[in-house]
Amino acid sequence: MQTLYSYTLIRWFALCLVVAAGPALGAPKVVASIKPLHSLVAMVMAGVGEPRLLVRGAASPHAYALRPSDAAALQAADIVFWTGHGMEVFLEDSLDTLAPRAAHIDMSATPGLTLLPLREGGTFEAHADEGADAHHDERDMHFFLDPENARAMLTEIASALSAADPANAATYLGNAAEADKTLAALESTLAQQLRPLAGRPFVVFHDAYQYFEARFGLSAVGSITVSADLAPGAERVSDIRTALKTLNAACVFAEPQFDAARVAVFLEGTSARAGTLDPEGAALNEGPGLYPALVQALADGLTTCLSAAGP
Ligand SMILES: [Zn+2]
Repeated sequence: MQTLYSYTLIRWFALCLVVAAGPALGAPKVVASIKPLHSLVAMVMAGVGEPRLLVRGAASPHAYALRPSDAAALQAADIVFWTGHGMEVFLEDSLDTLAPRAAHIDMSATPGLTLLPLREGGTFEAHADEGADAHHDERDMHFFLDPENARAMLTEIASALSAADPANAATYLGNAAEADKTLAALESTLAQQLRPLAGRPFVVFHDAYQYFEARFGLSAVGSITVSADLAPGAERVSDIRTALKTLNAACVFAEPQFDAARVAVFLEGTSARAGTLDPEGAALNEGPGLYPALVQALADGLTTCLSAAGP
């Protein structure tokens, strides 16, 4: 009788602990590196907590420098989600020191992820914006732009969060399943939207799109590495015009930080039109809605320019 009484008491006490540690109090401190990944983590954490984003605003993940507030967030983190070697150069060598307590989740190791090698050589110029360090690894790290990869990442994010915070596992798994349905539906509407654009030749300034192209049957014919800040010399401009003519490019896609007048200089004397694509969500607000908005905006940017270019 005495034993049964103690057992009941212990169970009751344990239950109180679980209730006290309930969703809000038990929320782990989570940091995510770049906007698209942060968005997927935010979807899975809905109702439990909000992840902290490192590369905020219009900053480029390829050339980011950590701020003191970022270092403090990393120091306190329980989990850090990052895409892996080759993207967030600012984390590469220092993650163990910066986030000593945290589980580090390298999203490029997600089971079932499609990973493609960097597309370089021929009409694809080297990725100068990604820094010399980025290229000890020859994988193309823009894998998150394939919605199928994003769906695989949702599962991985839910299991990492559940391992760190078992009390909220059911919420994480339910959110991931819900987000998976949303992305699956979006993927089929995008496939329909983009189908008429198959085979229209285009050129990009930042070769971020091969996962998106492969998923939706599109194909860039070349990439040109152009700086948004430095004006190119006359010889370089003339080489680029020649390349655009040779490639018969219908559209040239710059990113939001490029000045329209600078882009127009490259197009003079060619039949290419100018378009804008924002592969890392620089112009979008962070949060759970960013990822769907990001891939929809890519599809719309491609459609606007390439459908006007006509077959
Ligand atoms: Zn990029």
